[in-house]
Amino acid sequence: MSALNKTVSQAFIALGSNLENPAHQVRQAINELTRLPATRLLVYSSLYCSAPIGRLDQPDFINAVAQIETRLTPQELLIALLEIEQRYGRIRESLNAPRILDLDILIYDDLQCREDNLTLPHPRMCQRAFVLQPLWEISPDCYIPGHGVITKLLDACSEQRLQRIQD
Ligand code: AMP
Repeated sequence: MSALNKTVSQAFIALGSNLENPAHQVRQAINELTRLPATRLLVYSSLYCSAPIGRLDQPDFINAVAQIETRLTPQELLIALLEIEQRYGRIRESLNAPRILDLDILIYDDLQCREDNLTLPHPRMCQRAFVLQPLWEISPDCYIPGHGVITKLLDACSEQRLQRIQD
């Protein structure tokens, strides 16, 4: 479908990095979102520092969440985000490996889907404070399709270490 034929959708994007000056990578990536075609950056969260999950022998992560308005379809948006990751030198190793830049679509309108290359809402977002806390900061009434209100989900991962970075 042509990007221009579609109505405007709202999406939330998670950004993360734990290599090569992660805060800089995340700030640059937020700037990249303003250059996506048929897309407007609405708001973005503070940066947060989080301890690694799964594989512990790696640096802490810097995370943020941005809200966009877009005429790109979910697949078009995914391709555009993967292209940014590649441009920033992302090398795909194993799950939970260190990364220069990770961009995920968290939510796209109220869409729920499970395709080969795209699951919405993002399959692991509801267990991760480093996603839920910045999402709550910019959208405290957020409803995660199929999962419920953000405040309840956030309560359930209150034991995860997370620190907001002051500008
Ligand atoms: P990772 O960079 O490790 O988060 O994994 C990226 C891969 O996950 C991509 O190649 C996508 O095809 C797949 N994927 C599935 N669902 C999503 C999503 N909601 N957002 C971003 N990538 C996704």
